[in-house]
Amino acid sequence: MLISCTQALEICNKAQYDEAGSWQIFKLKLHHVYCRNCKAHAGKNGKLTELCSKADLKCMDHQKKEKLKEEIEKKITTDR
Ligand SMILES: [Zn+2]
Repeated sequence: MLISCTQALEICNKAQYDEAGSWQIFKLKLHHVYCRNCKAHAGKNGKLTELCSKADLKCMDHQKKEKLKEEIEKKITTDR
């Protein structure tokens, strides 16, 4: 489920042209949870931000998202 920076960038580019699916956007958002570089890059892309908020509504509620974020952060800290 976790994607690399290269993949994140690809999805980010696709999203600019409305070619990324909700699932891809979701994976990209997930990547942004632990990768500041890609998040900063995507932040310049207004279209993506819009798509992300749409994908959020479809994919999961806020509580689930927060829980997932915690889990990812925990995983990353233990991995390093
Ligand atoms: Zn990244």
